[in-house]
Amino acid sequence: MRAQTVAAFALGFVFGGLCLAVALWSTGALRPKSRGWAPAPPAIVLPSPGLPDLSRAPQPAQAPMVLPPEPAPARGEANRVAAGLHLSMPIDGVDPNTLADTFRDARDGHEHEALDIPAPRGTPVHAVAEGNVAKLFESKAGGITVYQFDDSRTWCFYYAHLDHYARGLREAALLRPGDILGYVGTTGDAPPDAPHLHFAVFKLGPEKQWWKGTAIDPLPLLK
Ligand SMILES: [Zn+2]
Repeated sequence: MRAQTVAAFALGFVFGGLCLAVALWSTGALRPKSRGWAPAPPAIVLPSPGLPDLSRAPQPAQAPMVLPPEPAPARGEANRVAAGLHLSMPIDGVDPNTLADTFRDARDGHEHEALDIPAPRGTPVHAVAEGNVAKLFESKAGGITVYQFDDSRTWCFYYAHLDHYARGLREAALLRPGDILGYVGTTGDAPPDAPHLHFAVFKLGPEKQWWKGTAIDPLPLLK
């Protein structure tokens, strides 16, 4: 009789404990907290908004590459010289007042130093001023590009991500403002679904090297 009572008591105790465990489990109190033991998720680096980078620094075999960062006084001087420089729009029908100023956007650890003008693939790209083609160049980041000097050889205009050149375009050819030099595309590192013209303006150094200069913001020159 006494053994039966002890057995019933023990059985009841075990059963009650199981019930309690099930109840606690169902409320979540016994479940491991996911944040408690799971490794922390890796930090997510969000890509900067806007269009991807485009190196303005091509890598010609004959030239030492990678532009050193220009000291602020150089840009100030270039901007001072640029006062009074007016350029025509490289893309027809685009109101410069509607364009986002992307000059200072961060791209791959440096400033963008250019203006992105979205336009449908195949849209004609026009010369912004009179001057000769200094270089036709294809680079990993810029894709199919044109470097044009202005007549005074003070400025270099850089047009990148072109789909293709205008027929017959050659180095040293003289372009007048409005002349078609190529067509909007996504060559280089432009996203295939976001065709645009990457347009930059550099003040050339005394050596007049097409790959070397001080970048200034093109947008105010187009307004
Ligand atoms: Zn760009």
